[in-house]
Amino acid sequence: MAEHESLEFGKADFVLLDSVSLEEFMANLKLRFEKGRIYTYIGEVVVSVNPYRAMNIYGRDTIEQYKGRELYERPPHLFAIADAAYKAMKRRNKDTCIVISGESGAGKTEASKYIMQYIAAITNPGQRAEVERVKNMLLKSNCVLEAFGNAKTNRNDNSSRFGKYMDINFDFKGDPIGGHINNYLLEKSRVIFQQEGERSFHSFYQVCVCVSVSIDALIVLLIHSVPSFSPPQSSINDGADFKAVADAMKVIGFTPDEIQTVYKVLATILHLNSKVVAVIGVLLATKEENVGKALLYRTVATGRDVIDKQHTTQEASYGRDALAKAMYERMFCWIVGRINDVIEVKNYDAKVHGKNTVIGVLDIYGFEIFQNNSFEQFCINYCNEKLQQLFIQLVLRQEQEEYQREGIPWKHIDYFNNQIIVDLVELQHKGIFSVLDEACMTVGKVTDEVFLQGLNSKLAKHAHYTSRKLSPTDKSLEFDRDFRIRSNPVLKMMWPEGKLSITEVTKRPLTAATLFKNSMIALVENLACKEPYYVRCIKPNDVKSPLLFEYERCRHQVEYLGLLENVRVRRAGFANRQEYPRFLQRYKMISEFTWPNHDLPSDKEAVKRLVQGCGFEHDVAYGKTKVFVRTPRTLFCLEEQRDEM
Ligand code: ATP
Ligand code: MG
Repeated sequence: MAEHESLEFGKADFVLLDSVSLEEFMANLKLRFEKGRIYTYIGEVVVSVNPYRAMNIYGRDTIEQYKGRELYERPPHLFAIADAAYKAMKRRNKDTCIVISGESGAGKTEASKYIMQYIAAITNPGQRAEVERVKNMLLKSNCVLEAFGNAKTNRNDNSSRFGKYMDINFDFKGDPIGGHINNYLLEKSRVIFQQEGERSFHSFYQVCVCVSVSIDALIVLLIHSVPSFSPPQSSINDGADFKAVADAMKVIGFTPDEIQTVYKVLATILHLNSKVVAVIGVLLATKEENVGKALLYRTVATGRDVIDKQHTTQEASYGRDALAKAMYERMFCWIVGRINDVIEVKNYDAKVHGKNTVIGVLDIYGFEIFQNNSFEQFCINYCNEKLQQLFIQLVLRQEQEEYQREGIPWKHIDYFNNQIIVDLVELQHKGIFSVLDEACMTVGKVTDEVFLQGLNSKLAKHAHYTSRKLSPTDKSLEFDRDFRIRSNPVLKMMWPEGKLSITEVTKRPLTAATLFKNSMIALVENLACKEPYYVRCIKPNDVKSPLLFEYERCRHQVEYLGLLENVRVRRAGFANRQEYPRFLQRYKMISEFTWPNHDLPSDKEAVKRLVQGCGFEHDVAYGKTKVFVRTPRTLFCLEEQRDEM
């Protein structure tokens, strides 16, 4: 018996449980966690529990064990899923994607990095220089993006505060030749506000602790003159990280000027938050009056005239915050863009003539609830609902619908369909995003009350909407309105392509909410047309302990991720299905009745004859157009027989 099949470590696949109940599922999950087996399958889905300690399972020797193997030949591992996605891409010419989900701190980002490392390790046996360059860039990009897009939160010391979808492009040999990163809504409010115990983005602390010669002396001086910036946390080594990030930026190809500009923007934002207008003038090489004007006045259109109107104190501080947030976001998007310039598929031949397939890796901010939740938490959680909906569609619904369509005997397995929640948020005219958009368009006073009234009147009857009163901390509209600050002269100077004049603003650009909604819909459409592989991450406790399996916490996650339903569908269902002609095409050489051609009345009959000959009838069902194979082992045997021919 293989080690991973030994009972001492529990069942390596939840499908093998004696009976499918929440208790059995949890007992198996707990046992495996306690035995240091952090990965368990549900068919081809990997369930991962964050070990909160260094595991010796990601080295070169482990990679070799998984390379080119079938899923069930080795103990469950991320590498096996990465290999399966890679094989599907290479052998069957499919675009695939690996969707990593789970709440904040569950281990998504770590998983995505191991997956990328695995793919980098198993490709380019020929050591082609260009491929090595691309791989190096892809791996190095993580370090830079984490510095600018991650932060310490109360849930995770290295929490992703942006969503990331990365395509890796492969050539006909199966080697990486490029990539592309899509980033989603950075939590920019963190630039100006952090809850108790949390930090702003890592980059600010890195630049503050460093007294490195690689930063222009004047900038160093100005950074160090920032009054009262909170001291770095002990769990994070900002000094070492600063050097690593600076090196990575250099390797990726950021010019010295670009890197200095990044430090300048960081310094500017630090000073903005400390209200020192003169210093900002120096940093951005603009006149002091311009900075003052940018912060104290706003440009408004009245009829045909455009005039400068002085802010109230409150407006001015709002404007300052919006400027700091917008600058950081702009810089972040620019960094992503620069990385994309470097990693995009360059080789014209590969792009146009050669086979070019992709593996997409999605690592997005996990579901979270804070003491005070802003527009950003709303978006993050909406995003997680969308991904859960995709999982339901692909893993629970389509699967069952197909059995019914094909006339395979099937007892429906119930699950909670969260489409109703997704609709509540995104439906045209009656969803929360629409109400928010309307509130933002209100002429005259755009206030939180207008938004709340809209919600209460439009959604009162919705089963999942609880009407509520305004609390003084609600800040949703402030966030959504800040696109107007884009007419700020300082920003214009730094990013001249971003000219957004006042007349353009009055044309009503899309709101942040609508932009985010559209980007999520596009993301889900993109994922849906690829062959998906899932990693479902679970956070075992809230205290980052490697020993503690908090039963209730874990049970809750297992439930809302729909894992039990996943096991039920998988157990009753079939691992593989193929249309009869395609199945024959692949395996007809195994049987004398089908090779080279058959004279049976239909392909279906021919497949039946072939399967009988192999003795697999018990493991196969015949649908109207497809043959369904229950266990991967059968398929593996067929493949072996084929190879022996
Ligand atoms: P967020 O949604 O906040 O970005 P996340 O799901 O991406 O959360 P990670 O940052 O991947 O969470 O993991 C949080 C921490 O847990 C890591 O910094 C690391 O300390 C630990 N961790 C996660 N996965 C592993 C692993 N496989 N081995 C060891 N430690 C891990
Ligand atoms: Mg993360």
